[in-house]
Amino acid sequence: MDETQNFRLKYPPLIDPFGRKLTYLRIAVTDRCNLRCTYCMPEEGVPFIPHERIIRFEELYRIVAVMSGSGISKVRITGGEPFVRKGLMEFFERIAALDGLRQIHLTTNGVLIHQYIGKLKRLGVSGINLSMDTLNAEKFKTITRREGWEEVQKSFRLAMEYGIPLKINSVIQRGINDDEIEGLARLAEEHPIQVRFIEQMPFNGLIKEFRKPFTASEIKERLENVFGELYPENNPGSTAQLFSVPGFAGKIGIIAGYSRTFCDSCNRLRITSTGILKTCLYDRGSIDLKTLVRDGADDARLYEAITHAVAKRHKDGFEAEEMTMNIPKQSMAQIGG
Ligand code: SAM
Ligand code: SF4
Repeated sequence: MDETQNFRLKYPPLIDPFGRKLTYLRIAVTDRCNLRCTYCMPEEGVPFIPHERIIRFEELYRIVAVMSGSGISKVRITGGEPFVRKGLMEFFERIAALDGLRQIHLTTNGVLIHQYIGKLKRLGVSGINLSMDTLNAEKFKTITRREGWEEVQKSFRLAMEYGIPLKINSVIQRGINDDEIEGLARLAEEHPIQVRFIEQMPFNGLIKEFRKPFTASEIKERLENVFGELYPENNPGSTAQLFSVPGFAGKIGIIAGYSRTFCDSCNRLRITSTGILKTCLYDRGSIDLKTLVRDGADDARLYEAITHAVAKRHKDGFEAEEMTMNIPKQSMAQIGG
């Protein structure tokens, strides 16, 4: 993986009807997880998908290879928890060797990744997004319904030691961890990292029980009350509005996932753990790439199916959601965030 090389695309780039070029692919390699975050899934977990319906790594590799030949230059591996899936590091190593991919990122809860940080660094991981909703060990147990606080702290320390670009993701829940906004933000005061606060979205594996979240503007107000004015940075294509704060080594981000203020510049596709291609976080999935691969589709056929889905992409998350209004929301673990 060479971030600077020139690479000749094998296929024309993927461009949607609104002129947005798709360059970023998020892959949920599993729907399973070793935690049970309250905003993501119920205590008993989501009904986990049987193994045969989960896309295999060799099937995923074929799809990523076709996409990297059509302008996808950045991949994020997510889940569920990616590190609960066997064979993840081998898959990482294989896609890291694909010519067209310039960046491979990971999103993780941090409980298992510490064992692999050295190897990930050697393989050239571009960055890690580490979920951390609290700085308090007891509250960690309340939010995630599991143990693992020490391991997450270890992963954080090791990523810093190895100099891997780090982003902290914190979902803010009213009355649960909104009192930690300041403490979490201070991690970016001390370290050259991004701390990103995320509005809770209605993806918790349940039909109901979703109350209006602690909004992006409330988060910003809370931060400005403590740190003074936040200075917006220009970072097009990102879901996070980034801010610099005088005296901070790092940056603060706010992700208005519920308010959806970033659709205009969205450049991302998603593949779920069952191999469904999604062109929007809020849609129900466009095509079943796994079945196409299993039915023997060649690369040209895969490319054609992907372009077909891209040609029908919705304008924004509100339009996509309208089509799925009365269907129970999936868990974020099934979609990959
Ligand atoms: N297990 C990994 C983790 O927690 O980082 C990767 C998968 S998780 C689904 C990806 C991201 O989605 C995490 O940062 C998590 O906090 C976020 N997330 C999960 N459910 C969410 C929800 N209902 N609203 C907003 N963000 C959510
Ligand atoms: Fe697991 Fe990540 Fe969902 Fe938490 S947010 S339950 S760690 S998939």
